[in-house]
Amino acid sequence: MSVRDPRYDVLFEPVKIGPVTAKNRFYQVPHCTGLGWVRPRMVAALRGVKAEGGWGVVCTEYCSIHPTSDDLPHPYASLWDKGDIKAHSIMTDLVHEHGSLAGAELWIGGSRSPNLFSNEVALDVSNLPNSVGVPYQARAMDKSDIRELRRWHREAALRAKAAGFDVVYVYATHHYLLSHFLSAKTNTRTDEYGGSLENRVRLVRELIEETKDAVGDTCAVAVRFSADEGGESDGDPVIGEHRDMIEMLAELPDLWDININSYAREMGVSRFIKEASLEAYMSYVKTVTTKPVVTVGRFTSPDTMVSQINRGIVDFIGAARPSIADPFLPKKIEEGRMDEIRECIGCNNCYVGDSKATPIRCTQNPTIGEEWRRGWHPEKIEPRGSDSTVLIVGAGPAGLEAARALGHRGYQVLLAEAEREMGGRVSRESRLPGLSEWARVRDYRVQQISTMTNVDVYLENRMEADDIAAIEAEHIVLATGSKWVADGRGLYQSTGIADFGPDRNIFTPDDIMAGKLPDGPTLIFDDDNYYMASVIAEVLRENQIPVTLVTAENMVSAWSDNTSEQAQIHCRMVDVGVDIITTHGLTAFDGSEARLACTYTDKEKIVPVSNVVTITMRNPNDHLYHELQQRMETDTDFNPISLTRIGDCEAPSIIAGAVFSGHRYARELDANVDPDNRIKYDRVFFEDD
Ligand code: ADP
Ligand code: SF4
Repeated sequence: MSVRDPRYDVLFEPVKIGPVTAKNRFYQVPHCTGLGWVRPRMVAALRGVKAEGGWGVVCTEYCSIHPTSDDLPHPYASLWDKGDIKAHSIMTDLVHEHGSLAGAELWIGGSRSPNLFSNEVALDVSNLPNSVGVPYQARAMDKSDIRELRRWHREAALRAKAAGFDVVYVYATHHYLLSHFLSAKTNTRTDEYGGSLENRVRLVRELIEETKDAVGDTCAVAVRFSADEGGESDGDPVIGEHRDMIEMLAELPDLWDININSYAREMGVSRFIKEASLEAYMSYVKTVTTKPVVTVGRFTSPDTMVSQINRGIVDFIGAARPSIADPFLPKKIEEGRMDEIRECIGCNNCYVGDSKATPIRCTQNPTIGEEWRRGWHPEKIEPRGSDSTVLIVGAGPAGLEAARALGHRGYQVLLAEAEREMGGRVSRESRLPGLSEWARVRDYRVQQISTMTNVDVYLENRMEADDIAAIEAEHIVLATGSKWVADGRGLYQSTGIADFGPDRNIFTPDDIMAGKLPDGPTLIFDDDNYYMASVIAEVLRENQIPVTLVTAENMVSAWSDNTSEQAQIHCRMVDVGVDIITTHGLTAFDGSEARLACTYTDKEKIVPVSNVVTITMRNPNDHLYHELQQRMETDTDFNPISLTRIGDCEAPSIIAGAVFSGHRYARELDANVDPDNRIKYDRVFFEDD
């Protein structure tokens, strides 16, 4: 059994937070799950697993205090009534079972709150337009509104206490109501809540004092606060008044949970933002308060964590994404199982759950959000259900995850890979600009498999149907991936582009990743609308190739808005000198010019280019699957128990989709799963009469 490296002992020291004590320094800060009040059992189980994994503090997502703070369709938590108390107590019980503290982030939306569900008028410091684009304005709060708000907050804090929470937040950042009171830009009041710094801080001060008065005997009161004023475009910190504000309130709360103004930096994707990137913005905070300080920074390296503590930057290692990718991160460090850490890759697919109002998913951790409805645990899995041998063809993310999880279950696994290197698309894509951390998807699984004597890997083994049949495995899994099409078929042109050629001037992402580059001005037609077109554009620009990026959408990389990186991608394209054309589709190309059509008017635009990179859709590499399926029907000597395709071979998707597919296959082999209804459905339901 491994033992903890004494260098990491400091991470396991208990830390007092007002009247409560966290058992260690691992702090799961509030983070969205796409579950909220809508799916209380799913979210409770998710948080419970984090506590089991060793996080000393486990918080909710943003938790509305009153129907005037309603963010649907984005799923938030709520503490409006007794029903909410009951729902949250499922979570706090699970968190307490593991000796951890439960935190509730009380949230007041202000003009960021669309209230489309509650139909209440949003309240804010001044008359303000709705900041998420809903055409309903927020009303300026008068003195009686402020008194009401203080009462709502106090009552919500009391409900949090009744639900069993140990830490209760005053949430004063992220462009919600309290940050609008703090900011001279939004706070145009002339009464005692506006004007001077003292006045603008008044409401936050009152809420801290009143929350302490209401629940401070047993609950710690935390303040979530921005360390900087924001507004920087070059990435340099602009601290401004925020330091003065923190100094003014320094000893009032029991804990400072520090953010920065820019979401895109605070929770930026690894393509643009690296580990511990908040330090420059917030390193002063501990010099102005004696209270414990927590911040985030996509910390996955225990050495970085220890350095943050020892250098006096923070008292707690705050984490959202690292705790999603590996809920057992603290336990693994504690037990010296460093090789087993599943590091977050910083792709932000977990954030899509909030953006699209759907349960959270994670590229690295396929069990997140599935704890309750599928009964999946990130570290435990049922032992094998038979002595069958499983042959997996293809060691991309789907094949690797299937092999890892089946190996964990104790099956005899043969993993055949055509290339010398494992990882499939992850290996290829992680060599694209900015995406190096994506290789962690491969590295974690390859490392795990390397410790399993029941998993045999055969590299440089391109399997044909005869080879597969000769192995006589009971279960055959095809994880052979997919290939980008070169004929322009996709969302915009479902049957392909009619006048499209010559072939030598047409490229796909597979060509570029294989090092085959165009010569001369190139048009990238992005009909995929995620990250691929923009990283291919970067590769071409690094090679001094003039690039025009065309999309039928009304912005570059439209889907990446859901992973919070769209603006950064747009800026990067401008920085590297890519010409952008939106709302146009590619209709023809002849080797010297590309014809585009406006998606609204059909008006034609001609772009003189000598090459096109077409990024539209992928074809599954499923010929082996069909060949074997045919053989099963005709060749009586070929009779495996099952033939299955997983990952991109079944349906091309994002990497998270491939990992999930491989994991699900492994979980469901020889298991008693109802194929018509695989998941328990977390919802309010009526008893049958
Ligand atoms: P996914 O995302 O579904 O895991 P990838 O495209 O990343 O798919 O990975 C597919 C892997 O399968 C690649 O590493 C590829 O080299 C491998 N592969 C494809 N066809 C064969 C084959 N016939 N025999 C062995 N390996 C194969
Ligand atoms: Fe990290 Fe990506 Fe998982 Fe989010 S989805 S926790 S960013 S690996």
